[in-house]
Amino acid sequence: MGRVPVREDLAAVEPYGAPQLDVAVRLNTNETPWPPPAVFSERLAQRVAALDLHRYPDRRLWALRERLADRFGLPPERAWAANGSNEVLVQLLQAYGGTGRRLLAFRPSYSMYPELARTTATGLVAADLDDRFRLTAQIAVEAVTRHDPDVVALASPNNPTGLGVEPSVLRALHDAGRALVVVDEAYMEFSPEVRERSALTLLDTLDRLVVVRTFSKAWRLAGLRLGYLLGPAWVVDDLRKVRLPYHLDAVKQEAGLVALALADEVTAHIGAIVAERDRVAEAAGALGVEVFDSEANFLLLRSAADDLFGRLLERGVLVRDFSRAPRLEGCVRVTIGTAEENDAFLTALRDCLADLPAGAGGGGR
Ligand code: PMP
Repeated sequence: MGRVPVREDLAAVEPYGAPQLDVAVRLNTNETPWPPPAVFSERLAQRVAALDLHRYPDRRLWALRERLADRFGLPPERAWAANGSNEVLVQLLQAYGGTGRRLLAFRPSYSMYPELARTTATGLVAADLDDRFRLTAQIAVEAVTRHDPDVVALASPNNPTGLGVEPSVLRALHDAGRALVVVDEAYMEFSPEVRERSALTLLDTLDRLVVVRTFSKAWRLAGLRLGYLLGPAWVVDDLRKVRLPYHLDAVKQEAGLVALALADEVTAHIGAIVAERDRVAEAAGALGVEVFDSEANFLLLRSAADDLFGRLLERGVLVRDFSRAPRLEGCVRVTIGTAEENDAFLTALRDCLADLPAGAGGGGR
């Protein structure tokens, strides 16, 4: 029995994904620690019971697009949804990337961007954020001028570093070239400042801009796999050319509608997460690790501890290890969980640092 060799560019690839380990405190994938409220599940169960599941779902997702667009004062033609914002991103690259085209991403940023470029056969070009992991207008304009990309993807707030991008920088980046500018606002709801600075405020003035968002983080529905895009109608028309027919199942379309109808209840916990983030940042800083400013539901920490990720794991706390990623030497990213989970993390962190020679915590903010 033979086997078919996989595509050459995939031969050495490891499947992407953070470890899913059965440990007591899981703070590694930026989910919300509390499930959605009971009223969401109850209403969803009723609506699912009434669905005609022997029929294919609405291929145009029209009701969901209407509700999404309406939330932002846009017509439904300017909204689109898919299975997580990851699928929106892959559809964007299927439509605007591909052989002979280039995606520009900044470093460090969301590690899926290079993966998506590869699977869609899009060339990848990159530029470094500044030393505090900010995207400045100068970096953005230089990178666009130098690489002349077809698509630019950036996260605001950025993952794993935590800061949002200024609208003036987005405008400079957009105007420097001819690319579709994709602003990935997966964590935007966690910062009032970022909400005000959202790229949505630019949608009507920048003609090649799209904003991508998700129900996985602040909407605490990571298990649902639902993300969406707001942008020009021509982008939505193009995405309809690459999407699989009936890509968004009927249950998920219904779940999105229920979540939108219960928006206040579903997102009621955001203030608690933000307060905990600030508490954990201060407490971790007081232990001597370097804490990067964050506008999201996670913190990037740097310490001199050897294998902090492994040491925390030994103590039952799972975080995300970035210590071997370029420019992130010694870094881990911790998701903000419940107060109890955060305390467990801080206790484990203190224990790990106590094992170190004096002064090796990492120092300063
Ligand atoms: N963008 C960023 C910046 C993310 O961190 C994530 C999740 N880790 C996603 C997109 C994907 O989210 P989802 O596919 O769950 O919507």
